[in-house]
Amino acid sequence: MTETFRFDPLELPPVCETLRGEVRAFIAEEKAAGRWRAGGDFTSGHSPEFSRRLGARGWIGMTWPKQYGGQERSFLERYVVTEELLAAGAPVGAHWVADRQSGPLLLRFGTEKQRQEILPRITRGECFFCIGMSEPDSGSDLASIRSKAAPVEGGWVMNGRKIWTSNAHKAHFMIALCRTGPIDEKDRHKGLSQLVVDLKSPGISIRPIKNLAGAEHFNEVLFEDVFIPADRMIGAPGDGWKQVTSELGYERSGPERFLSSFRLLVEFVRRAGPAPDERAAETIGRIIAHLATLRRMSLSVAGMLQKGETVNLEAAVVKDLGTNLEKEIPELVRLVARRGKSPNHADLMEEALAYGVLNAPSFTLRGGTREILRGIVARGLGLR
Ligand SMILES: Cc1cc2nc3c(=O)[nH]c(=O)nc-3n(C[C@H](O)[C@H](O)[C@H](O)COP(=O)(O)OP(=O)(O)OC[C@H]3O[C@@H](n4cnc5c(N)ncnc54)[C@H](O)[C@@H]3O)c2cc1C
Repeated sequence: MTETFRFDPLELPPVCETLRGEVRAFIAEEKAAGRWRAGGDFTSGHSPEFSRRLGARGWIGMTWPKQYGGQERSFLERYVVTEELLAAGAPVGAHWVADRQSGPLLLRFGTEKQRQEILPRITRGECFFCIGMSEPDSGSDLASIRSKAAPVEGGWVMNGRKIWTSNAHKAHFMIALCRTGPIDEKDRHKGLSQLVVDLKSPGISIRPIKNLAGAEHFNEVLFEDVFIPADRMIGAPGDGWKQVTSELGYERSGPERFLSSFRLLVEFVRRAGPAPDERAAETIGRIIAHLATLRRMSLSVAGMLQKGETVNLEAAVVKDLGTNLEKEIPELVRLVARRGKSPNHADLMEEALAYGVLNAPSFTLRGGTREILRGIVARGLGLR
């Protein structure tokens, strides 16, 4: 059956605007105290101290039930908090993955013991996760992963290798997708499972990989006979594929998929000043028009998440369009930026541009490549 796209318009309720004011006041306080400088995107700043301060405000895991440390607030309220933090370039990288997808995954599929043990720590900003999906030779074709977990007394023994794992060297846990059953050539999605792996376990080595910008943000993670207790299995053995695809809906639809170059836009607007020349004005207008549309689409997905609906298709559209825009912004700005000058902001603009140019190639890769997303969209339109 052909699915159709749904991007119902959504107005934020007044409670969201009150909350926006609180987040802005918090950010202003943080900046006035000189606690951090604005960073480039949602991965560029990693500050456990900041995460703890955010947790103390109740802004991590804020949609989760109170019994697990959450605030039972809406996805729309969460949306407002995340977009304000991203727009300000706040150092959200430490808790981002746990808040966005690992916690919700445990809430939905985890055991009661896992929820009680882990979720309150996440909400306090004390427990960070990384995503263990990609492997050498298995990125887009995720079902071809070869990392294996074999049953042993009391748990599982995992062997294999994960790659491109963002912040594995700074996280406490990885949710690792691995093969626990034999390969069924008729259905390669069978026999996959997700395990919560304590990254301090014996047998794990984490090796940094330098990215194009020279930063050590992602890693290769090697598993050699790593014992994982039975109670760290998420859901039932063999349920991994269903779970991992639901996780991707959270991963792909948020404002981080179109705001990665926002700081550059802000600095560009500052440099262009109150009377930008024609080319600068045209560039700014074009970017803002795209951003406004993407924000409406992404908000609409937040509304669907609030209603408990499946968002995989809409999330793929938001991520494809959004990451294309955030990748395009450094290019558009680079072509016109040197025409106007405001010496006061020259350095910040250069810094944001350099960050954007060096990091933009990764924007359309991380979280699923353009081609893969377009395949999902084509299937949704009934074209394949
Ligand atoms: C900054 C960054 C952070 C990342 N962080 C993480 C992380 O924390 N955890 C994690 O698990 N992974 C992470 N990744 C990995 C990311 O998910 C993969 O790079 C991505 O899914 C692509 O996989 P690949 O690199 O193996 O490329 P491949 O799958 O080999 O793809 C290579 C090219 O072929 C194209 N292609 C592949 N299959 C098809 C097809 N069927 N049809 C058409 N074209 C196709 C792709 O679109 C791409 O252009 C990160 C990547 C980046 C860049």
